[in-house]
Amino acid sequence: MGRTLLAVHAHPDDETISTGGILARYSAEGVRTIVVTCTTGDLGEVSDGGLLGDSGVGALRQHELARAMAVLGVQRNVNLGYGDSGMPGWPENHRRGAFFAARLEEAVERLLPILEQERPQVVVTYDATGGYGHPDHVKTHQVAIAAFRRAAPAHAVKLYFVRYPMRWSREFVAALRAEGIPAPGSAPTGANAGPDVTEVGVPDQLVTTAIDVASYVPKKRAALACHQSQMPSSHFLLRMSPDLAARLWAREYFSREAGPTTTPPGELESDLFDGLD
Ligand SMILES: [Zn+2]
Repeated sequence: MGRTLLAVHAHPDDETISTGGILARYSAEGVRTIVVTCTTGDLGEVSDGGLLGDSGVGALRQHELARAMAVLGVQRNVNLGYGDSGMPGWPENHRRGAFFAARLEEAVERLLPILEQERPQVVVTYDATGGYGHPDHVKTHQVAIAAFRRAAPAHAVKLYFVRYPMRWSREFVAALRAEGIPAPGSAPTGANAGPDVTEVGVPDQLVTTAIDVASYVPKKRAALACHQSQMPSSHFLLRMSPDLAARLWAREYFSREAGPTTTPPGELESDLFDGLD
């Protein structure tokens, strides 16, 4: 059976920021790659009002996402159709149609049929913090793991969380600032989570898996640039010199939460499909 990788993300652009390298690499290696995006991202701030047509922010971001998918080689994108919930504490967290306000079971019912249809051997999503605490990212984690548990082992086998190892995360922020780029502490997540978030990341020991995506950094940058409404050329991620991006994005980090591996404990797994026939 062919190999399938399915990544569950919150907003258009998250797929590229946190998993653009693996999506590009595995697509190039012949793996069927699928991105599920839970929200339309309709509360995203648009960098340039001139980009906005009559159809609104959600439609613009869907269009940008489609272009990014093409750059990365992703075969299928499914949007679960929820509204963006906004940043922590916003009243929009509880607005009608917001992902954060959705009943867990109802959201799982939207994701589960995709798992049953695609039968991905590998599912990737966020950890319980969603990286930096965004309500939609936290909810994405909850929905994805609930759907994975319902689908496994017949329809999904291995589960991974995106991780930002602390040592790498600190190096990331320091390196941008050393290039004169005013990067927030949450820079590795691509978001500016405000001055209260001085850093993001987990203890390095939590990382089980590091995927070499060095050859795909140019594709990741090109896909990121497709999300122009969120990632104008002035964005701190796009201001990185190509050399710096090549160094900082050479690997993407994960923790294996379910499924087999042949990698001995204490060693870093180098392939998401390790342990699968
Ligand atoms: Zn997001």
